[in-house]
Amino acid sequence: MTVYSGPVFEMAASQFQVIADYLSIPHDERDRLLMPKRAVTVSCPIHRDDGTTAVFEGYRVQHHLTLGPTKGGTRFAASVDIGEVAALAIWMSWKCALVGLPYGGAKGGIGVDPASLSKRELEALSRRYMQEMIPFVGPHTDVMAPDMGTNEQVMAWFMDTYSMYQGQTVTEIVTGKPVSAGGTLGRREATGRGVAHLVRRVMRDLDIEIAGATAVVQGFGNVGSIAALELYNSGVKVVAVSDHTGARYHAGGLDIPALIAHCARHGNLREAAVELALDPDELLTLPCDVVVPAAMERVIDARTAAALRCRIVAEGANGPTTPEADLILHQRGDEIFLIPDILCNSGGVVVSYFEWVQDLQQLFWEEEEVIRREYQILDRAYDRMMERARRDKVFNRTAAMAMGVERVRGAKNMRGLFP
Ligand code: NAD
Repeated sequence: MTVYSGPVFEMAASQFQVIADYLSIPHDERDRLLMPKRAVTVSCPIHRDDGTTAVFEGYRVQHHLTLGPTKGGTRFAASVDIGEVAALAIWMSWKCALVGLPYGGAKGGIGVDPASLSKRELEALSRRYMQEMIPFVGPHTDVMAPDMGTNEQVMAWFMDTYSMYQGQTVTEIVTGKPVSAGGTLGRREATGRGVAHLVRRVMRDLDIEIAGATAVVQGFGNVGSIAALELYNSGVKVVAVSDHTGARYHAGGLDIPALIAHCARHGNLREAAVELALDPDELLTLPCDVVVPAAMERVIDARTAAALRCRIVAEGANGPTTPEADLILHQRGDEIFLIPDILCNSGGVVVSYFEWVQDLQQLFWEEEEVIRREYQILDRAYDRMMERARRDKVFNRTAAMAMGVERVRGAKNMRGLFP
């Protein structure tokens, strides 16, 4: 029996069993690696603007504490439940281990649509959530960051709330803060920038000319919009983008800076150039060089995987491809190159790590330094994944996850089982 359930948790668990089989991990060792160390559920009451009281359920899951504190984002979305949060925490562990960070994975969230709250209500809920979490988090225990539905402003409220209770400013309690409140240069752009960097590397390896290549991007928030902008700035024609309000298409390439400016003014793509509207269901299967899913989990299922008409899938989102879809992609052989999520979007946690280190030292870096180190870590992890995939003739996701699992397992085995 477990409290974790739902399709996203089942997906993380079934992916792990594939890796455990490949690594021949004995069955009695598997639960110790897979099952989260701690999970907490909190009730967060707030006063609504109309004078009523509303209660929202919040979660935090810490997957393992073997390598250091846990680290992971906080998601505000109506669909959030503890199974999804646990899956995201597990993926975060393999990701941190793959790129060599001294963290276990964590994730948190609240089951709320942030668009349904006023700014005052959002602040009240963010502060109440952090206040409820104080016994469970800390700069050397568990460090939060943004994810879907949260941003720099929410991180600033988290940091302020924690600091008020400590009686001193504790910037290192969260990452993804505004630069003006102890954040690092280059964090807001880090995930999308890393996605685009890896796409360019793969294009070079596959002999795809970058200038004039085509891309589609699903999701136009922090990750999707920056990935689209970076690709656009590299000369890639981004022919389609989408968000939860709809999709936009232009065969000659969209004006990404104009769409970002539109979203900054209006909050979404809804009113942007309606003459270019596209059915969002068609987006991922458009013919193009690169597909970047950068919105949510499980959007590439077996049917979509069979219908993809791209050369590269760059997983900006966490868990966008189901295990059934993975099998189809595998069967398609070299037709489609997958940059798996735990590598593809790891630029975010890499630069979060830099932010934490800078906050602990109170010594801040130039943006060039942040970018140079981010790309260095991504390149190293990419090279190691490719070497492993070629050596063992396994799928890129298998190679990447196996390297993450191996590092956690190695540390657990060396430390032993307490008491
Ligand atoms: P965000 O809230 O900034 O943006 C999410 C975007 O997805 C929005 O544009 C939203 O409209 C869109 N969206 C939601 N439902 C959609 C749908 N059905 N179809 C198309 N678009 C839809 O979130 P984000 O931080 O950009 O995160 C996106 C993904 O990237 C998530 O899977 C998250 O876990 C992952 N991720 C984020 C970071 C980070 O640093 N923010 C790091 C690693 C991974």
